[in-house]
Amino acid sequence: MENGAPYGLLLKGGEVIDLASGVHGRYDVAFAGDRVAAIEPNIDASLAEQVRDVAGSMVVPGLIDIHVHACEGIGLSAHPDVVGVGRGATTVVDGGSAGAATFGLVRRVLMESVTRTLEWLCISTVGQIDTSVPECLFIPWMNVEKAVATAQANPDLIVGFKARLSRDAVGSTAMPALKLLLEAGEAAGLPVLVHVGETGEPLGQILDMLRPGDVVSHYLTGKRHGILGVAPLEGNKIIPEAFAARERGVILDVSRGRLNACFPAMQAAVEQGLLPDTLSTDLTKPGAASDPYLGLPMIATHFMSFGVPFENLLPRMTTIPARVLRREELGCLEVGGIGDATVLKFEEGEFTLSDVDGRTRVTDRRLVAVAAVRAGAYLPVA
Ligand SMILES: [Zn+2]
Repeated sequence: MENGAPYGLLLKGGEVIDLASGVHGRYDVAFAGDRVAAIEPNIDASLAEQVRDVAGSMVVPGLIDIHVHACEGIGLSAHPDVVGVGRGATTVVDGGSAGAATFGLVRRVLMESVTRTLEWLCISTVGQIDTSVPECLFIPWMNVEKAVATAQANPDLIVGFKARLSRDAVGSTAMPALKLLLEAGEAAGLPVLVHVGETGEPLGQILDMLRPGDVVSHYLTGKRHGILGVAPLEGNKIIPEAFAARERGVILDVSRGRLNACFPAMQAAVEQGLLPDTLSTDLTKPGAASDPYLGLPMIATHFMSFGVPFENLLPRMTTIPARVLRREELGCLEVGGIGDATVLKFEEGEFTLSDVDGRTRVTDRRLVAVAAVRAGAYLPVA
C-alpha cells in the first residue's frame, strides 16, 4: 500500500520489554509519524510502508546515555548521531562541553541531530573545551548567574549543570567549584553532575555534599579518590559514604569513557551491592571512532560478565535515566508515546572485554544494538 498505509514502520516479531508498563513478550510494534501507534501480538504487514523483521531481537524503549560528549566542533566532542543513534541510544546528554558563553552556538548542533541531544551545562562559562584547559580553576569563569539564565532560557535542552572536580580541571581543591555548581542547581531547581576521580578531596567529602538526584559520573574510576579509598584501588572495600549517598538518592553513574572505569571497582560494586543507577559511556570522538559496539550495550556486557542479569541492567539505560532527566516519557515504549525504541540482541561466542587500564576478561555472551528507532524512523547500527 502506498501513502495510504496507516503505519510508517512496523517492527515484526521482536520480544518487547517495557518496564514502565510491564509489557514483556512477543509483540509487533507499529509507528505512525513520530509516535508509537500499536503494540499487538500480530499486526498485518500490509498496513505499514516499511516492515522490519526483528525476530530473535528485543525491542526496548529508546536507550538513554546520560553522559557523552556531543558538541561536535568543540574539543573531543563527537557528532551526536555517532555517539547516539549510531550506538543504539535515541537520547544522549552532553556532559558539559558547552558553557553559558558557547551554548548559543552549541544549541544548533544539538538541534540539528537526529538523536535527541540534551545538555548538562558546564558551570564554567567557557565550557569543557579541551582536556588541557582547567575550565573550573579560575573562579570568575564560574558565573552562576549566567549559567542559571542560560538554563532558564533553554529548558528544552538543558537538564542541569556539570563540573569536572578532578585536579586537572579545578586545581588542588574541588570545593569552590562544587559550591558554585550546587548554588546554580539550587537557583535553577535542577540537578548537577560531577566528574570525580583524581580529586583534591577524598570522594566521601564530595558525595556528602550532593543532593538527591545529583549525579556522580565515573564512580567506578580506578584513579585516586575512588569508591575503594584514597589511593587508587586501596583494598576492595567500598567507602561508607558511597552507600550513604545511594541511600540519600544521589545517582551513581558509570561514564566509562577512555579513562574512567575499572574492573576491580566494578567487581566490588557488584559484590557489595552498589550497582550503578545509570549506565553511560562518556563517549568522545577518539572513543567513538573505532567500533559501533562501544556504546551502552558494551557497558551492559561488562556488568553481565560479572553476573548481573540483563533484566537488572535495562532500567539503568531506560527508566532510571529518564527519571534523572525528569523526562519520564523517554523511558517508555507505549501506544501514543514517543516513537523511540532500540532493537537489541545477544550474541554468543568468545569476547574479550577490557577496562580502561588494559585489564581483560573473557565472556561468552554480549549485548549488541541492532538498530535505533528515533521518532518513528528505523536507523540500523552499522
Ligand atoms: Zn565527560
